[in-house]
Amino acid sequence: MNIEFCYIDGKRLLNHEIVTRNLCEYTNKVISIPNNISIEFVPLQDHVYGETILNDNRFRINYKLTHREIIKPVIHELIHLHQKHMGKLKVMRDGTFIWNGKQYRKENIYLLGQKEYENLPWEQDVSKKIDKVLASVLELYFKVNI
Ligand SMILES: [Zn+2]
Repeated sequence: MNIEFCYIDGKRLLNHEIVTRNLCEYTNKVISIPNNISIEFVPLQDHVYGETILNDNRFRINYKLTHREIIKPVIHELIHLHQKHMGKLKVMRDGTFIWNGKQYRKENIYLLGQKEYENLPWEQDVSKKIDKVLASVLELYFKVNI
């Protein structure tokens, strides 16, 4: 896998990079994800752990999180890349999301509150999958590293 790390502000986070690189490698054995992934460690609002930028297999993780705290957010974002990789989730140039053929306009998504946002079908799909993916990934992680 080809994993690239970017920073807008702040020092390189070496532990975060090691953890993230391992998580990507092991997640790739559990669900199919793109081979080239860019990850930005950038300051985000306090309640935001991460966000996916779907147009170029890139996601952001909040710079303030510790290398332990990033595990679940990284897996969350990797599942979004999986959805995109499988063609289930698409994002158009104008920011419209398409999930299983149904369109969700960017303006409408931005208006959603936290709860409504979590109810979007691609977020529901992550919620459904994350525990199982996380458990499989951690099992692989510990098998190799301990
Ligand atoms: Zn999400």
